[in-house]
Amino acid sequence: APGDVDLKSYIQDVPDFPKPGILFKDITPLLSAPEAFGAAIDRFAAHFGEKDITAIIAAEARGFIFAAPLALRLGARFVPVRKPGKLPRDTHSFTYELEYGEDTLEMHTDAVQPGDKILLVDDLLATGGTVKACVSIAEQTGASIAGCAFLIELGFLDGRKGLDQYDICSLITY
Ligand code: IMP
Repeated sequence: APGDVDLKSYIQDVPDFPKPGILFKDITPLLSAPEAFGAAIDRFAAHFGEKDITAIIAAEARGFIFAAPLALRLGARFVPVRKPGKLPRDTHSFTYELEYGEDTLEMHTDAVQPGDKILLVDDLLATGGTVKACVSIAEQTGASIAGCAFLIELGFLDGRKGLDQYDICSLITY
């Protein structure tokens, strides 16, 4: 049964990727196992299915993988958040600090309206920089944020600090 699938066993640790000293969590074994990928979407849907989510916001690229099937399952709109210059019409944007330098993300201004109930989705919560950028973009629209969904949470990085007001669902924690 989907509830019995051990999702953690489908995540592979890759030492020293993308740089020395980083232990990368590779989700591709999970994506190549329909019983595990399906169980992950089932668990997100069970958690957020009764929350009247109207739109799911996710940042490229790996966030899209989970956001798209979940949006279809919940009957919600899928709204892509992208790197600068990729979206063709007017955008809201947010620039945030990285360890070295900064990054910017953009979303179409007409993709979300004030009455929307937003779910933010990503594959992995690390420092929280990416999801907080998505929160800031979503807040520019006046919509309300119902929660955040992550396949993996690296709990030791405290990425959920500052997200306490939201319903956070992480399927795998390290
Ligand atoms: P944060 O912004 O520091 O929370 O990092 C989260 C973002 O970085 C997510 O969009 C992930 O796709 C990516 N990321 C960071 N570490 C890993 C990893 O170990 N495996 C896969 N993705 C990662």
